[in-house]
Amino acid sequence: MGFLQKYQKDFEEYDCLEQDFIDDELIWAQLKKKENPSRAEVRSVLDKAEKKVRLEPEEMAILIQNQDPETIKEMYALANRLKREIYGDRIVFFAPLYISNKCANNCKYCGFRHENHQIERRTLTLDEITEEVRIMIDEGQKRTVLVYGESPETSVDFICASVRQVYNTKRGKGEIRRANINCAPLSRAELQQLKEVGIGT
Ligand code: SF4
Repeated sequence: MGFLQKYQKDFEEYDCLEQDFIDDELIWAQLKKKENPSRAEVRSVLDKAEKKVRLEPEEMAILIQNQDPETIKEMYALANRLKREIYGDRIVFFAPLYISNKCANNCKYCGFRHENHQIERRTLTLDEITEEVRIMIDEGQKRTVLVYGESPETSVDFICASVRQVYNTKRGKGEIRRANINCAPLSRAELQQLKEVGIGT
């Protein structure tokens, strides 16, 4: 089943909306309204950001439109402080595991594009996934990103099965603790299925 057929119902729902869910005019109007904000306005948004409270679009517009060098420096300093507080100097590595390079799409930058006839196409079986994951664990990997092209072989049910396979593969005390995925666009119901098997992002 092709992409358009698969998501036909979702597209119909989307087409019935009176307007695009990204309202360009509203965004531009908010940006226009907040041209050259005062220092007091900028600092009030920074006070909120410092408390790690989500900013509203109008508040984002104030930061985007700020042209004042003094408060721009304060923005940088706060961003740096929050980044250090939340992430510290930690760097997280993910080892990619290519589950399938079969893809119906043709993105120019990608070796998986369907017009590329120079590669062998494979979708790993669940047993092959176990083998690959064992090798990754033996190398000390704890996090992975599972990569799938867009093809009928990599349905959401297969993706869920492969994520389970990854989590169920153990080597002594070693295991993959976090499996993220890189796959085709999914419907809300399909995303729910993935949440249930415990994907990272
Ligand atoms: S794998 Fe992703 S990036 Fe590559 S051709 Fe398919 S859709 Fe495009």
